[in-house]
Amino acid sequence: ATSPYDDQNIFAKILRGEIPCRRVYEDDFALAFHDINPQAPHHLLVIPKGAYVSWDDFSAKASDAEIAGFVRAVGIVARDAGFVAPGYRLLANTGLDAHQEVPHLHVHVFAGRPLGPMLA
Ligand code: 5GP
Repeated sequence: ATSPYDDQNIFAKILRGEIPCRRVYEDDFALAFHDINPQAPHHLLVIPKGAYVSWDDFSAKASDAEIAGFVRAVGIVARDAGFVAPGYRLLANTGLDAHQEVPHLHVHVFAGRPLGPMLA
């Protein structure tokens, strides 16, 4: 079971423009911005505009249009940033064991160095 959405989470505040972010992309479905504590030379976050706690919540409850729009946006962000040729990594921490800290779905986009083997 997923917790109810907390509209005071930090990414909800970013979506409402209540706190700033370094925005790189926005459309009807998604907002992308730089992570405040980058773990790679390029570290972006892509979030859906809808109120979804996690990947689990989003994949279960979002409309087909929202899902398609969000997945397209993640691709656009990586492509526009020039990450495709060198390569990039997507990550969506979901829940406690994965150490998800912000309870609004976010996909991490890492690039800019050899990222090494996948962490399990
Ligand atoms: P999680 O552990 O939930 O997958 O990742 C949360 C991410 O959000 C972390 O990488 C963290 O650095 C980033 N983050 C937390 N607060 C802020 C913020 O206020 N602004 C931005 N741009 N990133 C944030």
